[in-house]
Amino acid sequence: MNSNLTRRDLFHAAAGGLALTSLAPRTLFGAERADVIVLGAGLAGLNAASILSGLGARVLVLEAQERVGGRCHTPELADLQDYGIEFGASQVGTEYARVLDNCERLGIELGQGAHIVAPYCFSIGGRLVTPEQWPTSPLNKTVGEEREVLPTALTGYFFSKYTPFRELDDWLAPWAAEHDIPVAEWLRRVGASDEVLRLTNEGLISPSIHDLSAIRSLQEHIRANTQAEDTGDAATQDIFERASRAALHIKGGTQRLPEAMAAKLGDAVRLGEQAARIDMHDRGVTVTTMNGARYSGDFVVSALPFTALRRVTITPALGGAQAQAVREMPYANNSQLFFRLKGEPYWEKDGLPASMWSDGPLSLVRQQIGNAGEREVLEVLGLGYKGDRIDQMDDDDRVAFVIRELERMRPSLAGSLELLAVNSWRRLPWINGCSHSYHPGQASRWAVDMIKPHARLHFAGEHTRRLEIGMESAMESGERAALEILERTG
Ligand SMILES: Cc1cc2nc3c(=O)[nH]c(=O)nc-3n(C[C@H](O)[C@H](O)[C@H](O)COP(=O)(O)OP(=O)(O)OC[C@H]3O[C@@H](n4cnc5c(N)ncnc54)[C@H](O)[C@@H]3O)c2cc1C
Repeated sequence: MNSNLTRRDLFHAAAGGLALTSLAPRTLFGAERADVIVLGAGLAGLNAASILSGLGARVLVLEAQERVGGRCHTPELADLQDYGIEFGASQVGTEYARVLDNCERLGIELGQGAHIVAPYCFSIGGRLVTPEQWPTSPLNKTVGEEREVLPTALTGYFFSKYTPFRELDDWLAPWAAEHDIPVAEWLRRVGASDEVLRLTNEGLISPSIHDLSAIRSLQEHIRANTQAEDTGDAATQDIFERASRAALHIKGGTQRLPEAMAAKLGDAVRLGEQAARIDMHDRGVTVTTMNGARYSGDFVVSALPFTALRRVTITPALGGAQAQAVREMPYANNSQLFFRLKGEPYWEKDGLPASMWSDGPLSLVRQQIGNAGEREVLEVLGLGYKGDRIDQMDDDDRVAFVIRELERMRPSLAGSLELLAVNSWRRLPWINGCSHSYHPGQASRWAVDMIKPHARLHFAGEHTRRLEIGMESAMESGERAALEILERTG
């Protein structure tokens, strides 16, 4: 082999028909040139860019924000780094092969410890009940075997017990369409009581069990279930909590991973560049950003959430199911407030578990325990419709509302809350939600077709997942998009 061959030559050798472009100048008619332009510097975009760049392609990654990482966001909270406070992803599943591999190659340390959540009690109709009291409590209106299952675990209990899916990609099979029905209807079919439906609705990150497809829940649970299997906890415990006990965390915060991936790509990553147009023609593609900069390339990968891509003009326009999915895919919500705890420990004052799940206006109250056992931080989550209600308030009102609700729910908390940080995924203009969702009927209509390459445009991002969940699904999707480009150029 010619020892002067570079990895870039190898990419172009693999790319066959692209060989001429390797001779093209870096700027063409005022547009900076690359082989592949990647939109979005979340894990999906960064993984696509890293793989292509590793094979010798010249890539450019355009990111709208002034930071990389997207939904991996570790806030800088001065003296509270030990708590593992995250606005976005925190748990690295033990089966996340791509995330773990990248961490190893980039010298990122993983560990257990951070982000431990104190045990839960339950606020039902404004009254508190402990896990031990739950099966026999008069507040528990579920029936039969359901009574043994904690409110946090009810959805997982039914979706794990009655899942028709055996393989991770079963949700994409044509026969799975019969499960593309509202969660409410699916739960009824498997015999869940009205109270299970009500409690499930109160804990949902999507607006309602009536407009969320059961496929979406089944898909999420089959993967989480395999992660939860190792914990040794009873099936009556929440499977996401069980999975979290086996999970790892990135030392120094999740954001260290996308930062390290971006650092390896060097000046190929451009911050503050919000894609506004994608124009494709026979010989290539031009991306124009909001500030008028133009980039040309052979291919483009959109690793943007569909909530963001729907604001980008694409020519030739998308059609059919793909256009509809980009335009209409619903996104769930998670509104977060973090408080520092002052004074006498509230959980010692009333003797109840410190964290809470609630069927009231707040969804979850999680007391985070620091690496050395410190118990100073409370994370409050408004999920689904509750999060949307909180997000509609102006900043002062939402903090006042949440403190009022917390004190009503748990009188021992009165006077002990000092606001640390507020984060709303719905309000963030580049993402507009915490994760993709499907209304009934949408998964079976869209999931297969919406990720097919359109002209020179390829799709990545957690919403285009196939087998994985969370961070790993973003990595999986970036890898798929990179391989698609390699395949069509080979
Ligand atoms: C609250 C929360 C908790 C989570 N917890 C976990 C967890 O514990 N474990 C886990 O595995 N996963 C978790 N996840 C999921 C995980 O964070 C995501 O699946 C993953 O980070 C998504 O990556 P992505 O690249 O698909 O999208 P994103 O990270 O959203 O990246 C998209 C990027 O595109 C950019 N962008 C948008 N519009 C434009 C434009 N026009 N031009 C250029 N750039 C643009 C955005 O700014 C963003 O940086 C969590 C997510 C949230 C929100």
